[in-house]
Amino acid sequence: MATAKSKGTIETPLDGGTFISLQKSSNEGDLSMETKLHLLYNLQQADSKIDKIHLLRGELPLEVQDLEDDILGLRTRVENLQTELKEVDKLIAQKKIDLENSKTLIEKYTSQQNNVKNNREFDSLSKEIEFQGLEVQLADKRIKENTLLQAEKKAALTIALEALSERGIDLENKKKELESIVAETAKEEDELKKSSEEISAQIDARMLAAYKKVRTNARNGLAVVTVRRDACAGCFNKIPPQRQMDIASSKKIIVCEYCGRILVSADFENE
Ligand SMILES: [Zn+2]
Repeated sequence: MATAKSKGTIETPLDGGTFISLQKSSNEGDLSMETKLHLLYNLQQADSKIDKIHLLRGELPLEVQDLEDDILGLRTRVENLQTELKEVDKLIAQKKIDLENSKTLIEKYTSQQNNVKNNREFDSLSKEIEFQGLEVQLADKRIKENTLLQAEKKAALTIALEALSERGIDLENKKKELESIVAETAKEEDELKKSSEEISAQIDARMLAAYKKVRTNARNGLAVVTVRRDACAGCFNKIPPQRQMDIASSKKIIVCEYCGRILVSADFENE
């Protein structure tokens, strides 16, 4: 896990529109600073619990999406292979007819050769026989080639159909798993979302915007953290004693100079 190191390992970059700009102008409005900090802390607690629920669902929504994409791709592959197979079948059937026709012609010309009047007619029929002989060879070659192709495509089709059926079963299982997790946590998530919205409504717009910005930039979704073991609970960098006292007094917004998160008293955790 991450521990206190150097300033080089800051995970949330400091930038405009974060809590820093609020440090100076934060005493406006009706609410006391302590109340404002409590609201922010409570908002963070609700949002972190929602994050945890989403973490529980983990990769499942993505896995379901991936499987659905796979199935779509496999269906297209199966359709294409079936179309190609039909073409090959048609071609083989046609070549078989061609082959039979050529053979019939060869028989016909051979018998005609017995009744010719002169050498010229005989030679002419010989040429036809020779030509049809080549046609027979060619048709035979095409039939053999396409029979191989047919076998390849049939094998590919079998593999695609098996994969399609496997993915279909996987998808059903993942969907059931996801649905059951969603069902288990849906009520809790709804309540947390409602609570998050209610708290948000009490926080002024600029502070809420800063909260959202820092939260989005932080990998762990934390924008408001406590001081733990003399360090920021967000980035684990040490906080000087004087600053810790300021934080404990809850009189103003104190932002971690390393990660830009708002620091609140550890006492908040117990309230
Ligand atoms: Zn920090």
